[in-house]
Amino acid sequence: MNKTITPQPGILDIALYQGGESHVAGVAEVVKLSSNENPFGPGEKAREAFAKTVHKLHRYPPTDHATLRRAIAETHGLDFDRIICGAGSDEIITFLCQAYAGADDEVIHTEHGFLMYRISALAAGATPVEVPERERVVDVDAILAACSAKTRLVFIANPANPTGTMIGGNEVARLADGLPPQAILVLDGAYADYVEGFDGGAALVDRRENVVMTRTFSKLYGLGGLRIGWGYGPKEIIDVLNRVRGPFNLSTTQLETAEAAVRDRDYANKCRAENARMRVWLAEALAELGIPSDTSCANFILARFHDQAEAEACDAHLKSQGLIVRRATGYKLPNCLRITIGDESSCRQVAHAIAAFKEAKG
Ligand SMILES: *Cc1c(COP(=O)(O)O)cnc(C)c1O
Repeated sequence: MNKTITPQPGILDIALYQGGESHVAGVAEVVKLSSNENPFGPGEKAREAFAKTVHKLHRYPPTDHATLRRAIAETHGLDFDRIICGAGSDEIITFLCQAYAGADDEVIHTEHGFLMYRISALAAGATPVEVPERERVVDVDAILAACSAKTRLVFIANPANPTGTMIGGNEVARLADGLPPQAILVLDGAYADYVEGFDGGAALVDRRENVVMTRTFSKLYGLGGLRIGWGYGPKEIIDVLNRVRGPFNLSTTQLETAEAAVRDRDYANKCRAENARMRVWLAEALAELGIPSDTSCANFILARFHDQAEAEACDAHLKSQGLIVRRATGYKLPNCLRITIGDESSCRQVAHAIAAFKEAKG
């Protein structure tokens, strides 16, 4: 072991991110409900735009992302100048930590919060600070109590992953109001597209100087494999993030596919409605089996079992049927399974398999 060549402090504290599984040994056809992907994939218009970019692959992409930013601005009614695009919202989260948090700085995330916040904070040399939630809901008072002169970033997802719960606009505004002056509130809106009529916090971003929103094409738009996300914030902050952003961080294929996807409102609305319909159906089917879940605002539900042993046994049973869901132990919810809302047939299969599991247990 070479003791002279060492990484920056904090890097070796990062546990490798575990993606949702996608294979089961011995099962050829699996149903993957472990990564909150859109079961229908991208819409026809996005697919066509993707295919067309093959003719441009020898050209460097634009560095200012102007066409995609304009499409996002027009669709969501936002200020074009204050949008930044990245390789997934993960990259925007990385930029925020890189630009605003370093040694001796603290980055707040919540008890069951998305694991990337902690990873990005550690990668930047900062100290992640975990704050408790209240019954799987972000607790604004607990976050405010954890703030200090060292707090530089506060990350919450709204709706949250893996709980699916949300806090209201007044609570988010109270959090932004109460932060110390040097801290930025980051509203991760990866699942905001699933909430009809919800702006993800964009209006709050417009009203304040300390709020940034992140969004993604990975969930509702069915483009997780392509890696496209964006952020919206005050001009000064977006300007800072653009300085750390690589000039060619997004390919022409990413940019043009995302543009077609965001302009295709019919497809987005159809996917949102279908998700809501099957989410209610699955939550009710599980509730009838004695498996509760919080009302989810996203494209998954978090099924709560009696204990860790039951959750593990059910997960093993589902796997044996080729159904892959997500254990939530890494999110400090060992008695839960997070189940992505698939298409109708997948939802029926998973409900059927859980019913058989419950019956076998007696
Ligand atoms: C899926 C997800 C994202 C999206 O990440 P991308 O890098 O855009 O694919 C961001 N935040 C949360 C909480 C998520 O669950």
